[in-house]
Amino acid sequence: MNERIFNFSAGPAVLPVPVLEEAARNLVSLPGVGMSVLEISHRSKTFEEIIGTAEANLRKLLGVPDGYHVLFLQGGATMQFSMIPMNLMPKGGKADYINTGSWAKAAMKEAAKWGTAQSAGSTEKDNFNRVPLQSELKLDPQAAYLHYTNNETIGGVQWQQPPEAGSVPLVCDSSSDFLSRPMDVKRHALIYAGAQKNVGPAGVVLVIIRDDMVARTPAGLPVMLDYKVMVENKSLYNTPPCFSIYMVGLVTKWLLELGGLEAMQKKNAEKAKLLYDAIDASGGYYRGHSTKDCRSPMNITWRMGTEDLEKQFVKEATAARLDGLKGHRSVGGLRASTYNAFPLEGVKALVDFMKDFQKKHG
Ligand SMILES: *Cc1c(COP(=O)(O)O)cnc(C)c1O
Repeated sequence: MNERIFNFSAGPAVLPVPVLEEAARNLVSLPGVGMSVLEISHRSKTFEEIIGTAEANLRKLLGVPDGYHVLFLQGGATMQFSMIPMNLMPKGGKADYINTGSWAKAAMKEAAKWGTAQSAGSTEKDNFNRVPLQSELKLDPQAAYLHYTNNETIGGVQWQQPPEAGSVPLVCDSSSDFLSRPMDVKRHALIYAGAQKNVGPAGVVLVIIRDDMVARTPAGLPVMLDYKVMVENKSLYNTPPCFSIYMVGLVTKWLLELGGLEAMQKKNAEKAKLLYDAIDASGGYYRGHSTKDCRSPMNITWRMGTEDLEKQFVKEATAARLDGLKGHRSVGGLRASTYNAFPLEGVKALVDFMKDFQKKHG
């Protein structure tokens, strides 16, 4: 335990220690099975139970209503950027996208290969430091769906409420805040999240999809890109990422034991407040990127006076066992990712470090 450092990486990211310990304990032989989860058939009863438990936990945590399917797919959130238009948008049709930063843009770019990806709103002129107001959105009632990015991992900007989509199906990329707070599933037609930010290791992407969206899937799609095939086969058309799914089962069990998503939201808010307060109290030495009403509790981003100073900050922080604070290569600056499993002590350590750094260099 004491050799673990504080891991602020944006993803793959920190996992709960009790989960890692349980996985390690059972890695060579699952209790009562005599084989590793890495070795068992995905058609075995043991694995059926593993995937069934992961799904049941997710349904319980999020209150997933009837009429929605929970899928465990591969290809990451990036493959969903393609699957969503291929399945939900008629070829050559149109869909609305809200552009809040790098990930929203990446989703839009893929959709544009299949049909028209219309901008329903963008905060690019504000350097993506916020999400648009509802009144700023230009929604097309004929759009196949409206896509938004719940939490922009790179900018550190989060929606407080999903946008109002009217009768247009709402699609959400929740990769970097999935299971960090409660979510109103029934307002959505489809929610997806790569696991490696907040829910497990890389290799599995979670998709919650409403029945009527599955019905839209056109004939003739490549089999691995077809939601209907995945639903009909309960994510087991081919070999799924068994170990990643097992880990999602353990992480969701850990969340349920901690009191579920409301309890988690409180913990996350407490951690984020400590860090944002430190930024705000620095007299401009640290400058938060996002506007206060859109601040993400998952990815906390800030700038400093010069790039050299930022480099020095990262260097000294790393030496102080605070790892992964360098901002994304596309925007620079600093970023602390404080996902569910990130401990409060780590945030306290960073705040102390920031104060010391300012004293020394400020
Ligand atoms: C990381 C991330 C992605 C891409 O995820 P992959 O699983 O690497 O494809 C997409 N959207 C958001 C919001 C992300 O944070």
